[in-house]
Amino acid sequence: MARIVMKFGGTSVGDVPRIQNVARRVKAEVERGHEVAVVVSAMSGVTNQLVDYVRQTAAIADLREYDTAVATGEQVTVALLAIALQEIGVSARSWLGWQLPIRTSDTHGSARIRSIDTTIVEERFKEGQVAVVAGFQGLSDNNRITTLGRGGSDTSAVALAAALKAERCDIYTDVDGVYTCDPRIVTKARKLDKITYEEMLEMASQGAKVLQTRSVEMAMNHRVRVQVLSSFEDKPGTLVVDEEEIVEQAVVSGIAYSRDEAKVTLIRVPDRPGVAAGIFGPLAAAAINVDMIVQNISLDGETTDMTFTVGRADLKRALATLEQNAAALGNPRIVHDATVAKISVIGVGMRSHTGVAQQMFKSLSEKGINIQVITTSEIKISVLIDEAYTELALRTLHTAYGLDAG
Ligand code: ADP
Ligand code: ASP
Ligand code: MG
Repeated sequence: MARIVMKFGGTSVGDVPRIQNVARRVKAEVERGHEVAVVVSAMSGVTNQLVDYVRQTAAIADLREYDTAVATGEQVTVALLAIALQEIGVSARSWLGWQLPIRTSDTHGSARIRSIDTTIVEERFKEGQVAVVAGFQGLSDNNRITTLGRGGSDTSAVALAAALKAERCDIYTDVDGVYTCDPRIVTKARKLDKITYEEMLEMASQGAKVLQTRSVEMAMNHRVRVQVLSSFEDKPGTLVVDEEEIVEQAVVSGIAYSRDEAKVTLIRVPDRPGVAAGIFGPLAAAAINVDMIVQNISLDGETTDMTFTVGRADLKRALATLEQNAAALGNPRIVHDATVAKISVIGVGMRSHTGVAQQMFKSLSEKGINIQVITTSEIKISVLIDEAYTELALRTLHTAYGLDAG
């Protein structure tokens, strides 16, 4: 007998027959003798609709009320799944975040889980009851409903698995595992049997939405065994594991992309100490994340150009913040471009191999794709390109690194 957490995403609970399918999968685990907690998302499309309602009501809404509205999608699916389980003879009840509670920070819209009280769930396990827990939501210290950021149910599931000391956390979704690249774009993408926590973390943070970044962070910190698998087919998925568990490590394990960024360039800022702090300080104060940064070498020793990327959703706010501080920055010309994509190649094998970046630059240049910004980390190389070339770049690099399925 084991204790397991099963998580089902939006498509997997997209309509009533699918919820009934989920109930059957949960029942199968219960019949194996396991103690089961299930985390569900809202039905696919519902959270988008709720976000849209809030946006229609106010351009900039009170985030506490935003959370109260967008967290409702999960309330429907926990109840329906509990009913579906009861219908097939499985004892189950639904739990909303506040009912356990799942305590979070008060950063509404992207709250972090601090603790989960599992006392009641564990008591009910002894009675053979399945806990159906709403993903994506929690409760702040002020007793307000919070949400964990889009895709946050993955994090709810991993956090619950950590709190319950579960043997594993199975993330059921609409693909049968983690692929070398998004299989909806690169049809030759290959399913990975295993991927390291570190690589999965990079893949997720560079745009592979199959797992929310924070869920991987949490799995890594608490050593939760995560498996990504299909809710529609009965076959093994991808295990997220420690590096030692991977026997043959490829140099490049995967390629991710993100169309969520925008590029900003400040032309002719004074080349003196404190300028970078002058630019990025106010952006940080406005809670705007900056990702890639390049500063040109100053030719005249007086001025330089600074290019960086921010989330596309933050672009307007970033420009407004820069305008407000323009005088202190020497009134640079500010230009921006939201039609960019970031392409990242990822692999722990990069630590011990050279030439990986060169391969990327060469392959892209052969297709006439211009690289606008480059950043690297120990196991990742990212480039910013014109968004129009996203698919071509992904397919080209996938082939160049020998990742194509046989
Ligand atoms: P869920 O609703 O189950 O949480 P998501 O839509 O959040 O599902 O995540 C699954 C999707 O992630 C897949 O449909 C796929 O298009 C996308 N995806 C992006 N990159 C990858 C990758 N490397 N491997 C698998 N899926 C990926
Ligand atoms: N329903 C939420 C969203 O659409 C959470 C999730 O799906 O993980 O972002
Ligand atoms: Mg998701």
